[in-house]
Amino acid sequence: MPRPETEYWHQLDPAEATSRLETDQAYGLQLLEVNRRRTRFGPNVLSQAQGETKLQIFFRQFQQPLVYILLVATALTIVLHEWVDAGVIFAVVLVNSLIGFFQEAKALQAIQALSKVMGSEATVIRGGETIRIEASDLVPGDLVKLQSGDRVPADLRLLQTRDLQIDESALTGESVPVEKSSQKLDEKIPLAERINLAFSSTLVTYGVGTGVVTATGDRTEIGHINKLIASADVLETPLVRRINELSHTLLKVILVLAGLVALAILLRGEPPVEVLLSAVALAVGAIPEGLPAVVTATLALGVSRLARRRAIVRKLPAVETLGSTTVICSDKTGTLTQNQMTVRQVSTIERQFNVTGSGYDTEGQVTTLDNSAENASDDVLTDLLRSGLLCNDTHITRGDDQSWRVEGDPTEAALLVSAAKAGLKRDELQRDWQRLDTIPFESQYQYMASLHQSPGGDNVIYIKGSVERLMIRCDQLATGQPLEASVVEKQVAEMASQGMRVLAFAKKTVSREQSTIEHDDLTQGLQLLGLQGMIDPPRPEAISAVAACQSAGIKVKMITGDHIGTATAIAGQLGIHGHTDDGGDLIGKTGMQLGETSDRDLIEMVEEVAVFARVSPSQKLRLVEALQSTGNIVAMTGDGVNDAPALRQANIGVAMGMAGTEVTKEAADMILTDDNFASIEAAVEEGRGIYDNLMKFIAWTLPTNLGEAGIILVAAFLGFQLPITPLQILWINMSTAILLGAMLAFEPKEPQIMSRPPREADEPILSPVLMWRTLWVGALLVVATYAVFAFKKSLGVELESARTAAVNVIVLGQVFYLFSCRSLRLSVFRVGLFSNPLIWIGVAVMIGLQLMLTYVPFLNMVFETQPTSWRPWALAIGSGTLLFILAEIDKWRVNRR
Ligand code: ADP
Ligand code: MG
Repeated sequence: MPRPETEYWHQLDPAEATSRLETDQAYGLQLLEVNRRRTRFGPNVLSQAQGETKLQIFFRQFQQPLVYILLVATALTIVLHEWVDAGVIFAVVLVNSLIGFFQEAKALQAIQALSKVMGSEATVIRGGETIRIEASDLVPGDLVKLQSGDRVPADLRLLQTRDLQIDESALTGESVPVEKSSQKLDEKIPLAERINLAFSSTLVTYGVGTGVVTATGDRTEIGHINKLIASADVLETPLVRRINELSHTLLKVILVLAGLVALAILLRGEPPVEVLLSAVALAVGAIPEGLPAVVTATLALGVSRLARRRAIVRKLPAVETLGSTTVICSDKTGTLTQNQMTVRQVSTIERQFNVTGSGYDTEGQVTTLDNSAENASDDVLTDLLRSGLLCNDTHITRGDDQSWRVEGDPTEAALLVSAAKAGLKRDELQRDWQRLDTIPFESQYQYMASLHQSPGGDNVIYIKGSVERLMIRCDQLATGQPLEASVVEKQVAEMASQGMRVLAFAKKTVSREQSTIEHDDLTQGLQLLGLQGMIDPPRPEAISAVAACQSAGIKVKMITGDHIGTATAIAGQLGIHGHTDDGGDLIGKTGMQLGETSDRDLIEMVEEVAVFARVSPSQKLRLVEALQSTGNIVAMTGDGVNDAPALRQANIGVAMGMAGTEVTKEAADMILTDDNFASIEAAVEEGRGIYDNLMKFIAWTLPTNLGEAGIILVAAFLGFQLPITPLQILWINMSTAILLGAMLAFEPKEPQIMSRPPREADEPILSPVLMWRTLWVGALLVVATYAVFAFKKSLGVELESARTAAVNVIVLGQVFYLFSCRSLRLSVFRVGLFSNPLIWIGVAVMIGLQLMLTYVPFLNMVFETQPTSWRPWALAIGSGTLLFILAEIDKWRVNRR
């Protein structure tokens, strides 16, 4: 068994490194040996980062201004020997903190669990075969293949590199990628400059390479500094922040009011105990105790709702931002389309052919345009199809259920199928045309090339890629005829207009000696072999999702590396609208046109253009910035390594779970497990629903708090007896927040949620409408409470009994008002009285508790309540009903506008 810990890997050359690790540079480890090493070294995972301890999270719950007031109140009541009050107030603090603690822990857990589901994979060579495995299964000595977009799965000594560049910012904070090599280095080179090593968790931004695993899990460099990585304050969202600000404002207002109350009572010459108790009552009444807990709970609930709709949220703020999205910029291939490519037309420019059959089944033929398979033999055609077969890294396999599976790129899979339909055999060709070197496909270059030893004697470079990039490199056809650009362009336009993706193919004959290729070898002198046009049908569910977005006032823009003709044709099939003010035609622009547009003009242009074709990743970033400059909230998808900056810039960066690279997933706020546009639409819908529910809670809780504060203020300034005690106020606030208010988080989405325009991103929490609502509902609660209290007192009942009646008025008022808050737009009867059963359960329990508070002797003693007759209940129900009706009218009045 090797002992990797003790070695200085950068000083060894590749052969020494592999032999110390007892592995083979070509064959990798034996499977048996892998098992042995896994037992010895354990799985390749980092032990849990030492973030905050549970205790720290718990104590942080106390660090809120509102809790400070309550703690001061506890202290005061202790000083005044009001033991029951002190106990209950402190119990409230405790319960509140416990709820906050569990909610936070749950939300964190949900997010962590989801990010584990998306665990990363690695490509290894084991027992001579290249396979994909879970990165956690790696052991020292494994041979790992890297390509751009991968996350380095363990610490590696690089054995081979080709233009390999790695972003090591996870380790060093330096975001400029490091160029790697496999050369052995001097002993004294510091860690950061050991460029023949690749470190776990860093990201491959360019090129390819192979390395041998030197360390796994906690023994990696990142493992050493794991403790330093903060567990990220993922729970802070813009809304949470604004609510905290609101709490601070509330705190100041409450302190001033409490001071005034104290002053007013003192001036009347009452004993200081009364003064303090009233001030405390005011403070606890005005504080919306349940607010922070309910907000976090609602957002956390949103995370799991979204996961059920195939959108995995990596950053909690995304849940909230989703609801205000105004523009979705989506990839075409695979997200809006099925990524099920089938070649339909082939052209050698001089002759054109059809291809029959569908999917990845090789059943089908290449025929001439008049459907003859016999006449479809042609040397150039064979060469064209062969180039597609050889310049190709994809495999098609058959799953257990007989379905076809593509390992690699569907575009390339289609080329394997078209070649097979013409009778070309991959095994034979790969043997006879041995591949010597490859330039892998990078969307930046839009082509792939491979160098082969041809049976004829010379070496041949095959290159395939976008028509534009290949045409400028070709000077003739494969037959030696001159290349007429206009003829080719006409054929391309014809195929593209039917929504086909068109690839061009070319070759270059080079000398036998040449055994490697560089981009420079391909700048000129190529012979154009021809074109292959493939269809990739739109996803049916994307068509309806696009329609839903557009009716919700969200612009859908397609951003693709594909040809403009293809892109606009597919956009048309998807029903993507033009975005000009007169709703005019679908406008498409190419990356080249974007390049010629100034930043100022771009701002105007991005609003109107719906299709951006041949866009390079760096232009995506420009597009996002231009859209944001006019206040748009942009969701942007991406799968390639170069999309990461655009995803980071976007308000919602969306990565693809299946096709996406680790780099994009890392940069994203949200990951789609099915790569489907429809899931983005679903996420926006959920996001709107979640935000709605938060607002419902706020609309419900604020008036109640104002009402309670108002009750105390009136008593203090007019010299009335307090109709409710501080203790009773606390009881009301806590129990109703949990049993009534929190149930609003479970409201189903409103029916017309996707037929209204997006919410303004900077919409204040306290809109004028809500402020007005808070005022009048609060005032009504004050009036009703005093009315019942005064009425009971006038009947000559004891103070306790009158107070109990007052408490029941407030609680039942909240119950009735709760129903109105189930929608801030629609009447409850439109929403469906029974569409949220939890509301009813909460209400039932609440009323049960209220009955106990009124009639159970022990509770009577603790809360200073007393049994009442049926009359105050009737009054409470009456005032609640009145409140409900007025709230419904107010809603109707506001939304009529
Ligand atoms: P998108 O995913 O937005 O459709 P890509 O960036 O993947 O676009 O591709 C851009 C262009 O590059 C395609 O239109 C095609 O011409 C070419 N291309 C795509 N995949 C390959 C490949 N595997 N090999 C060579 N060329 C490719
Ligand atoms: Mg692509």
